[in-house]
Amino acid sequence: MKKSILAVVSVLSVSSCSTHTLIDDGIPSNTLPKNVIMVIGDGMGPAYTSAYRYYHDNPITQEVEETVFDRHLLGLSSTYPAAESGYVTDSAAGATGLSSGVKSYNGAVGVDVNKKAVQTVLEFAKTQGKKTGVVVTSRINHATPASYLSHNESRQNYNEIADSYYDEKINGHFKMDVMFGGGWKHFLRDDRNLVEEFKHSGFQYIDKYEQLDTIIPNQPALGLFSDGGLPWALDDSIPHRLSVMTKAATKNLENKQGFFLLIEGSQIDWGGHNNDIAAAMGEMDDLAKTLEYLEAYVAKNPNTLVVVTADHSTGGLSVAANGIYKWKPESLRSFQYSPHTIANRLTNEDITAKFANFLFNFDLTGEELEMLITVKHGTQNALPEKEAIGNPYQIKNVSNVNQAMYKAVKYLIDQKTNTGWTSSAHTAIDVPVFSFGSHSHEFIGLNDNTKIAKKIFTLLGRK
Ligand code: MG
Ligand code: ZN
Repeated sequence: MKKSILAVVSVLSVSSCSTHTLIDDGIPSNTLPKNVIMVIGDGMGPAYTSAYRYYHDNPITQEVEETVFDRHLLGLSSTYPAAESGYVTDSAAGATGLSSGVKSYNGAVGVDVNKKAVQTVLEFAKTQGKKTGVVVTSRINHATPASYLSHNESRQNYNEIADSYYDEKINGHFKMDVMFGGGWKHFLRDDRNLVEEFKHSGFQYIDKYEQLDTIIPNQPALGLFSDGGLPWALDDSIPHRLSVMTKAATKNLENKQGFFLLIEGSQIDWGGHNNDIAAAMGEMDDLAKTLEYLEAYVAKNPNTLVVVTADHSTGGLSVAANGIYKWKPESLRSFQYSPHTIANRLTNEDITAKFANFLFNFDLTGEELEMLITVKHGTQNALPEKEAIGNPYQIKNVSNVNQAMYKAVKYLIDQKTNTGWTSSAHTAIDVPVFSFGSHSHEFIGLNDNTKIAKKIFTLLGRK
């Protein structure tokens, strides 16, 4: 314990002067990192990394085991957008701050408050001769990756953003060499087949995870693995798909000039919006595996910088609730299906104790089982008012039953784990910043999201 405090103090004292060197004097170009990897856990406020520690804990040992996040925590980031949007950011303004160093309004993708394009660190890296890539678990044209690759007044213009990935060039070249994530519905459209266009321009195209192994290095690659976002980690054929895609991307991008790679654990945020702790922990586990891979990568390639943060927190996650001094993640550790899938199956198939125990992968109490059956038949208020959907007598169509069932499943899990939520949207709490590798000490302390971008620009060689 003492030892680790001393280590932090000595790192802190080193940092205060090197931060000055970086901001005021620039740093000698021969010491700049060759590769820069930016990792965003969308919605990953501090409660998520704390919850993940207890989720990840081995209950057989006395100690609470350290997570990959714990090993690299350096500070916090403020996330507020431009003044006109108040203090609570969305993912577009948050990512635009992180990508360009410019505060903008909620919904803005790579543009300032006047809707003018602002250069992003990914674009700057490209002008420096580096290869670039994005690896995400959302659609690749979703707000976060789009704010590194595109410029649009609204994150909702999904097709325009997808088109821009093909149409906007830097010095006649594509901005990106690798893109992995979801998005068939925007790249394979009736009015435009962007997949064909990319293939025609020399991109390798894959649409199954198994094909990630077959990608030829040093040749651009587009991998789209689903219509929109990828399935929840808990439901996906490869639960650690972000780490698998990341491995393939780093292999593909390696070259003499180095690379800039954006990685996003996109769906931590969606777990937060849905107030779904089981899904959120599944996504956190995928991100943690990705960071463990990056630790090993940096050990082999010490001239690589990895910066990890969130764009904001989501859901007001509370690690314990209801006046009780307990958070009980035990049941979360063994989920085989997402609560969303569990709810679908409970809606569409007969609920028996055996089937429900199989779906949750733990034994439900008689009360829990009865609650699920009651919600399904919509015969009475089986859920507290805030969880219930309208008048249960009116639950007639399957999608309403399905929604009610999803709420019931999450309610059951929250009660069992004693998890709390205060919002279905974003909150303005500062988010953790982690960094390791070349020049990682630059990120110690409180960094506004725009400051993180400014430091990355400098580390990429901008004067
Ligand atoms: Mg996102
Ligand atoms: Zn969100």
